[in-house]
Parts: sequence; C-alpha cells; structure tokens
Amino acid sequence: MRCLFSPYVALARSATPLRFFAQHRKSLTRYPPSVLSNRWGQPLVVAQEQGDHSRSHRRFGRNSLGSRRMPHPKLFRVALAVVMGLMLGGIELSALLAAPPVRPPRLTAFSPPSTDLHSPKRTHPPHLPTSRPFPSVPHQALPLHTNAPTLRSLPTTRPTTFVTHAEQTQFRESVDPSSVMPYYRRLAQTSPYIHIEQIGQTDHGSPLELVVVSKHPDAHRARRPPKDHVILFVLNGIHAGEVCGIDATQMLVRDLLLRMNDPTQLNHLTFVTIPVFNLGGHARFHPYNRVNQEGPARMGFRANARGYNLNRDFTKADTANMRSFYKAFHRWSPHILIDNHTTNGADYQYPMTYLISELPNVAAPLRRWVGQELKPYLAKEMKALGYPICPYVMYKKGDELKSGILRGVPPPRFSTGYGELFNTITLLSEAHMLKDFRTRVMATYHLMRHTLEYANQHAATLRKARILADRQSTQSKRYVLHWRRTEKSRPVEFLGYAYKRTQGTASGGRWIQYDRTRPVTFTLPFFDDIVPARTIDIPTGYLIPRAWYDVITRLQANRIQITRLTKPTRFRVQQAFLSQPRWVSRPYEGRMLLTSFQTRWITREYLAQKGDVWVSTRQPFVRYILEMLEPEAQDSFLRWGFFQTIFQQKEYFSPYLFEKTAQQLLEKAPILRKKYQEKLQKEPAFASDALRRLQYLYKRSPYHERDLNRYPIVRILQTLPEIRLR
Ligand SMILES: [Zn+2]
Repeated sequence: MRCLFSPYVALARSATPLRFFAQHRKSLTRYPPSVLSNRWGQPLVVAQEQGDHSRSHRRFGRNSLGSRRMPHPKLFRVALAVVMGLMLGGIELSALLAAPPVRPPRLTAFSPPSTDLHSPKRTHPPHLPTSRPFPSVPHQALPLHTNAPTLRSLPTTRPTTFVTHAEQTQFRESVDPSSVMPYYRRLAQTSPYIHIEQIGQTDHGSPLELVVVSKHPDAHRARRPPKDHVILFVLNGIHAGEVCGIDATQMLVRDLLLRMNDPTQLNHLTFVTIPVFNLGGHARFHPYNRVNQEGPARMGFRANARGYNLNRDFTKADTANMRSFYKAFHRWSPHILIDNHTTNGADYQYPMTYLISELPNVAAPLRRWVGQELKPYLAKEMKALGYPICPYVMYKKGDELKSGILRGVPPPRFSTGYGELFNTITLLSEAHMLKDFRTRVMATYHLMRHTLEYANQHAATLRKARILADRQSTQSKRYVLHWRRTEKSRPVEFLGYAYKRTQGTASGGRWIQYDRTRPVTFTLPFFDDIVPARTIDIPTGYLIPRAWYDVITRLQANRIQITRLTKPTRFRVQQAFLSQPRWVSRPYEGRMLLTSFQTRWITREYLAQKGDVWVSTRQPFVRYILEMLEPEAQDSFLRWGFFQTIFQQKEYFSPYLFEKTAQQLLEKAPILRKKYQEKLQKEPAFASDALRRLQYLYKRSPYHERDLNRYPIVRILQTLPEIRLR
C-alpha cells in the first residue's frame, strides 16, 4: 500500500511535478509498469505481500480508492495524492521519458530489437528455481542467465512501459490474466501498426480479443488480410497452464512494432494473435496447476470454463471460444497457424519440440514449401541460437525411449489437423516443461520470430504454394480418408539424457529417472512412413436435410458454400446404413464418441425437400467437407455424436395387437412367408420365442422406421450439370 501511494503523497507535497520526479525517479522505476501506467486506464495493481504469490495481487480500481483497506487517518491526504498522481502521472512520466504528452504517433526505438535483446546463444540445460512454494522437481537451482533482458539492460527511451511482466520478473512469473490485454492496449496507443478487436464470446463470459499487427492499412481500416501479405496467426494459452506463448507473444508483438518503424522491414507480413484463447482456464491462475511443470510462479488451467479441452474442439465446436475462433481464422485465412504449448511426458535436451505440416496429407505445394524451405531454416536457426528443436516426442511403446519416435497425421480435432484442412500450414510448438521458464519463453519467441521472418522474406513463394494447394483441393477426384503408419523407420539422432529405472518409495512403482548431468546422443528409429489406408472417390456433393441445422451452421461458420433447395428436387445418391455401433464407455470431451461401426452403402433415388442443403465438393475447403460429412472419417460429425438419435428406435408395437397385422403380412407377402418359415425350421430358439418372431416381421413391415440406423447425409453422384436446383 505504502509503496503504491507514497510517490503520489510526496507529489502532493512537492512544489513542482518535475522536481518530484527528479527526486523519485528511482522509486518509480522500481515498480512494474502496471503500477504506474494508469494514464492508459488499466487498473492499479500492487503486490500485497512480497512472496505471497497465491494471493499476491489485489486490484485497486478507481472505485476502491478510499475503501476500508486504506489507513483511515491518512485517508484524505492519500486520496488527494492519488488523484493528483492520476492527473499528473501521465504528464510527468512523459517528461521523464522524453515523449510527447499525448498519444505518440508510433512506438520508438528499442534498438536493435528482438535478437540482440533476447537471443544470446544459450547454454543448457539451465534450471531456474521455481517460484512455486512446493517444488515439483528436486533438481538444483542454477543461476539466472547473466545476459538476460532486464530493465537496466534494455536500451529504450521508455524503460518500463513496454517491458513485459515476464521480463520484469526475470521470468519467474507469467503475466497475470488481468494484465495481458492492457499491455497490448498500451502498444496500440503508441503504434499505428496494431489494432485490437473483439471477435466473439467465450464460455467464460469474457470477449475473445484479437491483436493484429501489420504495416498494411487494409489490415486495420478494412480489417481484412492485405492481398500481397502472408498471414501468420498465433494461438496462445489454448491450454492455459502452458503459458510461455502468452509471454513470448507480448515480447514478439512489441519487437515487431519496433521493427516496423524501419521501412525496409516486415513489409509482407500481417501478424494476428489471440493472446489468450482459453480465458476461462487462464482465470484459474494459480501456483498449483501443471504439477510437473517447471514454473512460472502461477499459471492457468488446461480446460476451459465449461471443462472442455479446446484443443479437441476444433471440429465439433461445442465452445463459444471455438465459434469465435472460426470467425477470426476464416476472416484472416492464415497461411501459417502457430499453436503454442508446453510438453508433458519425457525428459530430453531439446527445449522445444514441434509438429509441422509436412506429411503426405498436406497438399504437395505446401508440403514442399515446409519440407524444403521453412523446416530446414527453422532447424538451423534454432540450433544456432542454442535452442535445438526436434519433432514432437511420442514413443512407440509407453515410456521406452529406445522403442523409437512416432509421427502420425493429426486428426482435425486438433489445431494442427484442423488448419491443414484449409490449406493452412500448422506449426505446433511444444516448449519443454522441465526447462526453466525463461528458456521456454525464449524458445517459443524465437520459433515464432524465425517462422514469421522466413514467411515475410519468402511471401511470394508461400502465397503461390497456397494458391496451388487450393486449386489442387478443388480439382481432386479422390481423397485419402484414413492414413496409416508403416513399420518402416529411419535412424535419427536424438539428444536425450541417460536414464534408468528405479523403484519409488511412495508408490513402489518402477519409473524412469533421467540423469540431466549425463546428456547422451541416442540413435533412434523414427517412424514417419505414412501411407494411405483408405481412399474414396469424392462425390460431387452432399445433401443435408435441413433438420440437421447444428451441422449446417458449423459448415457455414467454416465458410463452406452451401445452396438451399428452393423446391423438392430428385437426386441419385449413395446412402450409408450403419450397424454394430460402439461408443466410448464414458463421456469424452462432453460427448459419447462413436468409436466403431459397420457401414453398408446403397445407391438410390432420393427426394430432397425445399430448404435442404446441397454442398458442392468443388470448393477449396473440400477437405473440411469430407472430413466432417463422410461418416467414417476419424473426426466426422457422426463420430462426435451429432446423429445419436438415428440409433434409437422410436416406435414399438403391442404384441397382442400386432399379432393380427403380422398374420396379414404373411398372407400378402409370399417371399417373406417362405423366408420366415425356413428360419423357423432352422432356428429352434427363434421358433420358440414369440416376441422375437413378431419383431422379425415388424422389421419387414412398412411400419418399421425408415430412418433407424440410416445416416441422414447422402452423397450426391450426379455431375453438376445434371443437377437442376431451381
Ligand atoms: Zn498443450
């Protein structure tokens, strides 16, 4: 309390503001910018008690000034001081920092930015002491980087305003949920190259916000992607305990804005970011999330406000967060989507692992651009900076490193799989949870930075690759619905640690113990030979009865062009009948996922009704259409339970009444009668079960429900000119 208000108390007493700031400059710069920067309208924030991180911040909004938390005898004087401080602070900070008193036209000169500030070649593995009072891993605390960016070392005319919270705290803390957006708002008041927009709601009830950084006016005035730019979209905090992307992106946006002051820099890039996607999870900012993770002091929680894992929600879109994301994703139509995470699982030397769009499921022009250009560049640059990267580590057998590492085509429920359906290159960054927070943030920062630099420099080739990919998608005749990994592998070098199994005293289990003092370069089999397992002919389109509006709205939200029939129309179609359905035994991500079923396709004439929806497959996002509407696709709407009602019979008969109807049926249908009699002779158990006999006949009667087990979306087989829609 005293720390917060004492400068203003002194200010109230001092003769001139300038003299006051000359006297108190030191004490002002001691506080995080959020304490002093209320000229921009954000709440005052102050540490309540040093070291009490679990409730370390208490907000003093303007309404709370003079509350009973204030020392009563000094109430008037302190309130006066605060009011004067609020009035004069902006002016005086500006005087102190040699900046104009009103909103400056642009962010000026941290120079040089990014690399020199943050990228000295690191030695690793360094391990910071975690600020959490209950250390999760019992390894030794090592000293901080000596070349860390600190208040003193940052060459800037505005020493405190744009230093991020992580930087200020020497990477012991991640930015508090209430301070994420105020930081961007301060940047937005300073530079013409950034704007912030609300894109929709979240399950948490807070609006989802998007930060757009670009030198092109279209990106800000028209809020659309500039034609000659590449668009890079960064998603942070989808798992809100994995916070390094949140802090790294604050630093990156600041440094991008600085570089944009140079007319030769970043002229072909629009950078778009959702600073925190899982706002509900981030609101659970706490020291006791992510038990195995090495800091920071506090972090968010994995699931969102309604318990959904957002990184399983990209296709079913059960959350308001995802529906808001759709708007942003499709408006900006990014060439590259980066989704920042922190790992779980094994220990190894790499501070960063990743997945990138390079497997055969990705359209060839994009796959080539990634495999031959971006990926080798990232690997080289990250290694040179001391952050060697490696593909995401998933062992073939449990926790056994020597069994090898697997790759696989990511299902569309994940950001990686979803983006690829729209010919967006996806890059999943997984900073390693056991590296100190500084290392994780910096590795994330540099991976993003190098990706955007390369994309900016090679904008023309990337844009061309995407246009070609869209064209290929639109023209393709066949589609691989399922991929499989073969047993073929190739040897790769892997920077791991020596390990052994020891018996734990708490559980008695034998677990792997990695020895971080003994780095070892293993040669491991890498299983990345992915081949088609099932390929289908792409139908000319699909027909969706209008009753399935929850599916139709999701298609529309994903910019799929649909046509509503204006009158009843006949089609020649293929329809699937499903049998032997099996579901998960417990709800998975809020739904009873359909794990397996048998499919029988029939070809028939189909009379579609007015208002039903026809979806052509001759459009660039055809991969999304196929993955969602083909019943057997791994993340189809059917699998996610959008059509559960088709599996339940709704009407039944009363045996004492249906007996007579069954008799009439047998009399009028000689073929059925013959089959029925054969069955009675062959199956004594059937013959002796009166109810089963009636059920057999009911199923073959015209009263039986036609829609039972019938997948309601049909494939259209006609070519386009044959379809008369109007
Ligand atoms: Zn994650």
